[in-house]
Amino acid sequence: MKAQLVKGLVVEDEAPMRRFLRTTLSSNGFAVVEASTAREALAMFSSHRPDFVILDLGLPDGDGLVVTRQLRSFTNVPILIVSARDRESDKVEVLDAGADDYVMKPFGTEELLARVRVALRHAASRQTPPSSVTVGPLTVDFESHLVWLSGAEVHLTPIEFKLLALLSKHVGKVVTHSQLLTEIWGPKSVEQTHYLRVHMAQLRRKIERTPARPLLLVTEAGVGYRLREPPV
Ligand code: CA
Repeated sequence: MKAQLVKGLVVEDEAPMRRFLRTTLSSNGFAVVEASTAREALAMFSSHRPDFVILDLGLPDGDGLVVTRQLRSFTNVPILIVSARDRESDKVEVLDAGADDYVMKPFGTEELLARVRVALRHAASRQTPPSSVTVGPLTVDFESHLVWLSGAEVHLTPIEFKLLALLSKHVGKVVTHSQLLTEIWGPKSVEQTHYLRVHMAQLRRKIERTPARPLLLVTEAGVGYRLREPPV
């Protein structure tokens, strides 16, 4: 019996880019459906129920940001933005609107596939949240609130643990400043990005071998932070 393919919806108005995305995904074992406008994206989503969406921001009849908000009003499927817009505010806006990740054009095939896999893993773990997460040498246990680095226990303050736990629940995914601040300090603190700078620096001193050149806890300048598997 053939396993059912994981299905992606590619929303992109430029035909060569759409073709590239389709070829990349289908040659890596994904089923693909396509849309070239915002209106078509919502129609294709409803009729095909994809497992993830790859979404361009500049569409002829609307903005991918609006499509993201519309999709998020009724579905949790991963949404990956692919865009040539490199303004930090564009990234922040669409991530805060509920997109899972943001990939800058031009991007490599491997980069895109890796981000798709991370987003799908993350979606699967939303169904059954794990009790602990291991990222490279780091293990975070959400139940006991203990953290280990290469087998040795790391002592974190309650705030540091909350930050690390939140990032650990979204491994590989950028979590925006406002998501971190809102979740940990509350909505009134959404502008206090210096809180993050201070506590992230402390956290890096405890979990990074070279805190000035972090391998696990990386900064997405102007956008947020990402906890990731260290490069090999
Ligand atoms: Ca476009």
